[in-house]
Amino acid sequence: MRSTRPDPGAGKGQFTRARGRTVSPPARPAAARNPRILIVEDEPALLRALQINLRARGYEVAAAPTGREALAEATRQPPDAILLDLGLPDLDGAEVIRELRGWSAAPVIVISGRAGSGDKMGALDAGADDYVIKPFNMAELLARLRAALRHGDHAPDRARFSIGRCEIDLTSHTITRNAGPLPAARPAAGQPATPAAGQPATPSETVHLTPTEWRLLEILLTSAGQLVSSDRLLTEVWGHGFERSTHYLRFHMARLRRKLEDDPPRPRYLLTEPGMGYRYQP
Ligand code: CA
Repeated sequence: MRSTRPDPGAGKGQFTRARGRTVSPPARPAAARNPRILIVEDEPALLRALQINLRARGYEVAAAPTGREALAEATRQPPDAILLDLGLPDLDGAEVIRELRGWSAAPVIVISGRAGSGDKMGALDAGADDYVIKPFNMAELLARLRAALRHGDHAPDRARFSIGRCEIDLTSHTITRNAGPLPAARPAAGQPATPAAGQPATPSETVHLTPTEWRLLEILLTSAGQLVSSDRLLTEVWGHGFERSTHYLRFHMARLRRKLEDDPPRPRYLLTEPGMGYRYQP
């Protein structure tokens, strides 16, 4: 069994060189950038060993010692994969996975000292992709990470969405309606931006939703492009027994459109599928 601790001779140079938050690789086209890995681990020695090993193999690395910081970091810069310790000081790892899975499809490999099948199944049920038990073999972990990245290749992160001029961030639950009018011509260097003729510029503003509106919107956005049945929306937002209360849906969908669509009577994003349900069309 190989140690999880780095070879001090081989690792030291890497670590010193990579002391900043992330290693900046040479400029490349976005499609060819190095995969970004978020390590969530509160054990400093293990965190360091993982950072050194990943950076030595060209990964960009971000680290978070708590569940809350991990969720914040994943929102700020969505990772391509996540290595997650289950035993964190604030949240349980499974809770972190469940929150992430509301909006992120990035593969999650759990690294845990808990070998019990209950913990393992709990993590996998919450949405983890793989499970490695401490102490682990670094070469094996790296092989599993490569496999997870291959599988995750076509799964984009879904934390941010847009509806017309509104930018929606599901993690921080914020919506910003961008300044109009759009599109604005890019001003020449040194020149102030000027609105298009005849259209007044409006400042960016925050859009506020009620908890019910958020819940509805979340379900639609995370099923982007797909029909979501009225039954499912009513059950998930209001609970069992409300399957016939389609007037609730009509009321709240109308409010969402008024708040988010550029032209609410002719919605382009929050669409009704008559007799069936609703769809968010990106
Ligand atoms: Ca721990």
